[in-house]
Amino acid sequence: MPFIYRNLILSPHDGEDRLPALVAGQLGVPPAALQGFRILRKGIDARRKPRIKVIYTVSFSLVDDAPLLARLDREPDLEWQPEAAPALFPAVRSSQRIVIVGSGPAGLFAALRLAEYGLAAVLVERGQPVEQRSLDVQKFWKTGVLDPESNVQFGEGGAGTFSDGKLTCRSRDPLGGWVLEQMAGFGAPPEIRYLAKPHIGTDRLRTVVSAMRRHLLEKGFAIRFGCRLTDIVTTRGAVSSIVVNDGEELPCDLLVLASGHSARDTYEMLERRKVPLERKAFAMGLRVEHPQALIDRIQYGGPRHPSLPAADYAVTWNNSATGRSAYSFCMCPGGVVIGGASEEGGVVTNGMSGQMRDTPFANSALVVNVAPDDFGGPDPLAGVRFQRHWEHQAFLAGGGGYHAPASNLMGFMGLPGKGRLSSSYRPGIVEADLDTVLPRFITQTLREGINEFGRKLRGFVTAEAVLVGIESRTSAPVRIPRNEHYESVGLAGLYPVGEGAGYAGGIMSSAIDGIRIADTIAARLKGC
Ligand code: FAD
Repeated sequence: MPFIYRNLILSPHDGEDRLPALVAGQLGVPPAALQGFRILRKGIDARRKPRIKVIYTVSFSLVDDAPLLARLDREPDLEWQPEAAPALFPAVRSSQRIVIVGSGPAGLFAALRLAEYGLAAVLVERGQPVEQRSLDVQKFWKTGVLDPESNVQFGEGGAGTFSDGKLTCRSRDPLGGWVLEQMAGFGAPPEIRYLAKPHIGTDRLRTVVSAMRRHLLEKGFAIRFGCRLTDIVTTRGAVSSIVVNDGEELPCDLLVLASGHSARDTYEMLERRKVPLERKAFAMGLRVEHPQALIDRIQYGGPRHPSLPAADYAVTWNNSATGRSAYSFCMCPGGVVIGGASEEGGVVTNGMSGQMRDTPFANSALVVNVAPDDFGGPDPLAGVRFQRHWEHQAFLAGGGGYHAPASNLMGFMGLPGKGRLSSSYRPGIVEADLDTVLPRFITQTLREGINEFGRKLRGFVTAEAVLVGIESRTSAPVRIPRNEHYESVGLAGLYPVGEGAGYAGGIMSSAIDGIRIADTIAARLKGC
């Protein structure tokens, strides 16, 4: 039976092979008595710089539990946990036709989970398989020629495929463990199972996504790329088929809609079909890029030890008078700023890094909360128009060709000192007045927030930092309301899921939402 031991502390200089001896020493048992030794969690405590601690939780079992069980009361860091039974998925048979729209985390994990029950579906994806998509995206970054159907937002793997691949989730949902196990099983680094801040990196994520595709094909799924949902056909108030690419009709009884936050045409189609939609708050701002070595010095109190990861940060500031918050979002250590446009004539920034996080740059979005009342219209799609308007302003300020408007941080703050004006963003940046590419309430709150961030992270406000805009696709500006059975409140058989439905934000929570929908569908088909 496994024991769990918490708060084991090593320094960055120590090798992890010391851990079993450390535990054995603290518990007074011979190291050889510890069996099945496993790291369950690893985190970094950098609060007392430059003394950095690496903190572990481990599990192990003993041939003879009795002596340690008797000491549980006296050992605050020791715990005993019976091994969890593996999840069981009863086989479900059904003639109901399931279609999943979108192969982002929500759609893919809905599919993987349905496969566990022995169910198969048709998976339709407007973009291209990840291999072709990678070429299309590289071409966009190199030449500024956008493919509106195969880009950073659209294509196999979804929006996070060209990302840092942070696999953190605010909630401690137990389904998160299933997501990480699946990812590791399909080729993600095994340590994502225990790192306090797991991340996979865009390079590994792409291979994981294609391994998932092969698995689903083996399980009997039909996967169709270049296949865009363009209409929904209903019979007696329920989904009966869908139309793809404006022509072909596919029979469908249960429609899992996992189309993400950038499928603006899909929201428009839903509105035409009178599916209830509502406005949803999101956030918008700029991306800041610093030298990674500077962020390392700020966070670790000196140069980074080679065993430590590229340092990250998370900062937030709230103006209680205006009710606005400025905060960092989707920080990418050792990454690059990327162009994430999916529509002609709009500039969108985001961040991405490889598994090694080894570029000389650290970037993060700095964003401000945007409420439905800011959108300038009462209708459900007002937020989409708001996003599109400001993305177009950024496009104009960048001079076309998807160059992004940018400013040195000191210049944006009105501080003296002329500094760096270069960025990893491709196809390139153009110096611009960033007050023309965002509403005043956003630039104003960003300035207030950045002042505060400079106090928390000494050295953050520097001529070495560049701001690039605009960061507008932080989450969906629309929600597709669902009932307690995860079904649209207005259309039977429609299951809106993931970030585009307005019920998730990020890879993990979107994947978990997809799993929930699959469990609900399996239970419904089983007649539970
Ligand atoms: P998406 O991933 O958006 O997937 C939707 C899919 O549906 C797409 O593949 C799209 O092509 C397809 N689609 C859309 N419309 C249609 C249609 N009509 N017909 C057929 N197919 C359609 N999150 C993190 O947690 N960590 C990160 O490090 C991180 N970094 C990011 C970096 C970038 C550059 C971006 C863009 C996002 C990042 N995110 C990150 C956010 C994360 O990617 C999203 O939260 C997540 O992908 C949402 O999952 P989803 O499945 O709901 O939607």
